[in-house]
Amino acid sequence: MAGKDDKNMKSLVDVWRRPENALCADCQKPDPDWASYTLGVFICLNCSGIHRNIPNISKVKSLRMDHWDEAQVQFLEQHGNAAAKATYEAHIPIYYYQPTHADCQVLREQWIRAKYERKEFTEPERQLLYSNGLKEGLLWKRGRDNGQFLPRKFLLSERDGCLKYFAKPDEIVDWFNAIRAVQFHYLKVAFPMASDSEIKSRLMQNFLKEGYMEKTGPKGVLSTYNVSSSPPQQKEAFKKRWFTLAHRRLMYFKDPLDAFAKGEVFVGSREHGYSVKQGLPPGTQGSFSWQYGLTIVTPDREYLFTCETESDQQDWVAAFSQVIEQPMTPQEYAIEAYFKLSS
Ligand SMILES: [Zn+2]
Repeated sequence: MAGKDDKNMKSLVDVWRRPENALCADCQKPDPDWASYTLGVFICLNCSGIHRNIPNISKVKSLRMDHWDEAQVQFLEQHGNAAAKATYEAHIPIYYYQPTHADCQVLREQWIRAKYERKEFTEPERQLLYSNGLKEGLLWKRGRDNGQFLPRKFLLSERDGCLKYFAKPDEIVDWFNAIRAVQFHYLKVAFPMASDSEIKSRLMQNFLKEGYMEKTGPKGVLSTYNVSSSPPQQKEAFKKRWFTLAHRRLMYFKDPLDAFAKGEVFVGSREHGYSVKQGLPPGTQGSFSWQYGLTIVTPDREYLFTCETESDQQDWVAAFSQVIEQPMTPQEYAIEAYFKLSS
């Protein structure tokens, strides 16, 4: 009896040590030490926790601590991460974001559910879910003032790909990938010479940075070359606006629920004359109620903003720096030129 158990343990270790099973099947984390004996995949501890949420699909055990019977070990031998990938990841749309262990729980859980529970990638026609270039939905947004939930209709078209609100985690990820699909199709049409992988690398990686800041109107810009000739003490009101930074687009809205942006700013790269500074230029006139300033310098002008708290200011500076420190692609030069033409 003991001999049979030893043989079974050895078989388990052998299949566990196969190179195909060296990374978690779901998040690529090295050295997975859990496995699903209904799906036949080797996964990390974190992903095993997510698998526990779909017990009708996946049953997990620790490879180190739990007992594995012969049939379960044989099942792992006959399956494994490579076979599972061939089945459950056979038709992943190119724009679909595949999270890793560095990503948040929401993205990882929806990825695992999409793969095994909804089987979204087993057949090619499932891709239509995201890639018809149009996603429409009714989502609920809690009103800021009265605390009521308000229905908001969202339309994402190939012309205007902007996500502002979402409700449940699966909707967040659906919208996230719908936006990537729209971005992908847009870039594909705009830059037919670019390869799919080149375009994929330009798709939105992170959720948007959003929040309130105050900004000056067009006249409130401090001119760097004719300060002395401008009327002294000219006060320009800083207006509170809702900002959304997505990719290199900074859009602002009078109200977060507004469907259309009041305006937008293209945020380029440092090597192309863009920078972000903490604080406002010395001598800035204007009535602003928030004291934590930041300045975005573009080749054409400076944009002045104020934030309510120091941590808001630092978050925004970090978000802009991340965009600015990234070199611009030839495609982004074209987008910048388009922004200049249309502004
Ligand atoms: Zn994992």
